[in-house]
Amino acid sequence: MPVSLPDLPLLTLPTVADAAAPRLLMLYTGGTVGMAVNKRRELVPMPFDKLDRLMPELRQLAYHIELLALPEPIDSSNVTPADWLLLAQLIGQHYADFDGFVVLHGTDTMAYSAAALSFLLEHLGKPVVFTGAQLPVGRTRSDATRNLLTALEIAAARHPGTSTMRLPEVGLFFDDILIRGTRAKKVESQQFAAFKSENYPPLARAGITLTFADKDIRPLPAARLRVHERLAENVAVLRLFPGITAAVVEAVLGVPGLRGCVLETYGSGNAPTAPWFLDCLEKARQRGVYVLNVSQCQEGRVVQGHYETSARLSSLGVIGGDDITSEAAITKLMFVLGLGLGEAETRRLLSHDLRGEITPQ
Ligand code: ASP
Repeated sequence: MPVSLPDLPLLTLPTVADAAAPRLLMLYTGGTVGMAVNKRRELVPMPFDKLDRLMPELRQLAYHIELLALPEPIDSSNVTPADWLLLAQLIGQHYADFDGFVVLHGTDTMAYSAAALSFLLEHLGKPVVFTGAQLPVGRTRSDATRNLLTALEIAAARHPGTSTMRLPEVGLFFDDILIRGTRAKKVESQQFAAFKSENYPPLARAGITLTFADKDIRPLPAARLRVHERLAENVAVLRLFPGITAAVVEAVLGVPGLRGCVLETYGSGNAPTAPWFLDCLEKARQRGVYVLNVSQCQEGRVVQGHYETSARLSSLGVIGGDDITSEAAITKLMFVLGLGLGEAETRRLLSHDLRGEITPQ
């Protein structure tokens, strides 16, 4: 389902940049960062053309900044794979004209979007930094300005004395840490420190100075950017819990047309050994459903066969997800299945690291 690219205007923000200053494109999708209350006192997304007025600090920046707003700003709970394809296409369309990109996005699904864009933008050589806020811009104590200004600084950062961008990958900046796009998880809905970097160190920390962990950042790609245009939609997530019934497992794994399922297991990838459960997995395998085993734990990794309770999974075709996050796993399934490859290659890609989402053992 490739998306057609609407012709969206760019709005130039007045700044104090000189000719050699980095050129940044800010893509506004919606989210709390740009919300206001409606008549029923609910927060709803607003168009963001007043950004410059609400954030006068932007005028003092020494970067060229252009703003591109998606046609309809949305609460990120309404994000769909079509939005990810559109964002990827827009970044591809403007890739040559900018040094870095900042995506303003709601926090609820930002980790999914950052992971999806990581997969869609293969051989990315420039920064794409997602950020947002827990309080709308303009509100007293809002975190919007600080998050956005730091995200812009990250997107503009070059290796000292060179023109090489410091972050040739998708990242998510929030509060004071920059997280790899495939490692982010929203862990907090009330405090400003809303995201955690799962199973991988943060790529940068913003204190009094902005400190990059260069050794943990992906190297510059050897090939040119390739923007992928397809994501498979027939995927599911099945989270195990003690007491889960055969009817529930059968219903999810038996969805007509299902192509892949993230199985959220216990601990290091363990699952019930009851015959009915193993039978459901076997039937899914026979129907060609790819099952990716991801741990419910927020740290650690899946090691199929470490316990008896995961020993049968590999022979039932279940693919061990290592230390991948659930957010990266579901978007990786959409991406890999969207490539339309044969079984052996699909399995190989699902079990290998593509964008820093797995730490090989
Ligand atoms: N519901 C909002 C969203 O994800 C939450 C936020 O942005 O913080 O769009």
